[in-house]
Amino acid sequence: MLKRTVFFTDSRAKSNVTVFDTTLRDGEQTPGISFTREEKLGIAEHLSDIGVHTIEAGFPASSDAERDIVSAIKRLGLTADVCGLARSLPADVDVCIDCDVDMVHIFIPTSDVQREYTIKKTREQVLEAAGDIIAYARDHLGLCMFSAMDATRTDPDYLIEVYRTAVDAGATIINVPDTVGVITPTAMKHLISRIDREVNCPIDVHCHNDFGLAVANTIAAVEGGASQIQVTVNGLGERAGNADLAQTVMALSSIYGIDTGIRTTSLVETSRLVARYSGMSTPPTQPIVGENAFAHESGIHSHGVITRSDTFEPGIMTPEMVGHRRRLKLGKHAGRHAVRQMLAEAQLVPTDTQLDEIVLRVKRVAGRGKRVTDADLYEIAENVMQLAPDGKTLELQGIAVMTGNHVIPTASVRATVDGEEHVFSSVGNGPVDAAVKAILGIVKTPVHLKEFRIEAVSGGTDALGHVTITVEDERGRIFDASASSDDIILASAEAVINAINLVCRTRKNDRKRKD
Ligand code: MN
Repeated sequence: MLKRTVFFTDSRAKSNVTVFDTTLRDGEQTPGISFTREEKLGIAEHLSDIGVHTIEAGFPASSDAERDIVSAIKRLGLTADVCGLARSLPADVDVCIDCDVDMVHIFIPTSDVQREYTIKKTREQVLEAAGDIIAYARDHLGLCMFSAMDATRTDPDYLIEVYRTAVDAGATIINVPDTVGVITPTAMKHLISRIDREVNCPIDVHCHNDFGLAVANTIAAVEGGASQIQVTVNGLGERAGNADLAQTVMALSSIYGIDTGIRTTSLVETSRLVARYSGMSTPPTQPIVGENAFAHESGIHSHGVITRSDTFEPGIMTPEMVGHRRRLKLGKHAGRHAVRQMLAEAQLVPTDTQLDEIVLRVKRVAGRGKRVTDADLYEIAENVMQLAPDGKTLELQGIAVMTGNHVIPTASVRATVDGEEHVFSSVGNGPVDAAVKAILGIVKTPVHLKEFRIEAVSGGTDALGHVTITVEDERGRIFDASASSDDIILASAEAVINAINLVCRTRKNDRKRKD
């Protein structure tokens, strides 16, 4: 089963598992996140496209708006099954039926603490309620998932009894939720293999990340025999979130060779879509999809991956497999090989002595605690190589931005392009958007804005705004540039201009090389 090393010989893992995504339900319960109707429909469509087997679209009984969204998602006619959540109440199940969902997901608390302090039912009453509600749901629906809430803190003997009752009443799949994220991988594997041996029904798992173990526990459950995993995009969810879709899927497919049916080359795109809609970005170190997931900074690592990528990457997982890119980044550990390779991309070929000096200056800039962007590198290189300065293609002469609560943000830019003056105005979603659009309107060069980030360097209202932008040229090359100012609009404008000049300069060097 395992692709690389055999860690276990007692694995009950299936050769394929299905993915149940709950970004739109548990993910939306993330404090601070609320998706619009359009965003929820967009996410559902995307998840179905990438091969998610079941989408938990929401909790229809929670509000009229939620019911409307769940039925709208069902009406999209997606390949994925659409599931609605319900408490163990006939009225909740009825709302799901009204939404025409393919599956209802019914939960009831089973741990002593939740049973006594939330629903105030005895163990016997819970058993009876579970059997009754599942039988009721199965009279109307083909697919019914039963969830014993807080399963991992439930007496295991009683838990088995609850699951048997649900399966006898017609549950088509049973979910084992680690509701408060307290189990360990070893215990999870034991628990799931016991349920798999003693209850005749496919098993699904739902893990929370309170101790950072959600992905590990989900994988352990698969080792124990679970055939479906519950995940969310970017690990969104209650408190510390749920098992992350990208991480769980890639670990299962790359390490174990288990097929999840997910088109993994879209994972970065999926993460960015949900980050944009949720307004919650992932840290650079986020596995699989983070900005640094395949980035190399130290000289030793960069040299290694230039020669052969699996020297300092997993190898069984490449950036291409997840829709990412390998990038070399410069910092205080920069090495000659990385710098040479990055300059070659821009058709700059320094001598060995020049290269030494460039590396020295890069380290000096990084040593001052500054991130070294591509724009910084090329400026250093042109300086050291004493290249006749081409002059900047784009030079800003003036910028004016109008914004307020009763005006449409508008920006006017006056700039020279190769010495010739141009003026352009644009409206935008805000002053920064208007300014960036006005600048992009002046240049004819196709520059595709990939990422735009504004950070406040200090904490107060007088904070220095630091803008980093990433652009892609028509040959698919990626460049980054940055600028800082106590005026975020000016910092944004300068960063965009730096990036455009970088693309133009590289284009000129391309041409020189050809001549
Ligand atoms: Mn949950």
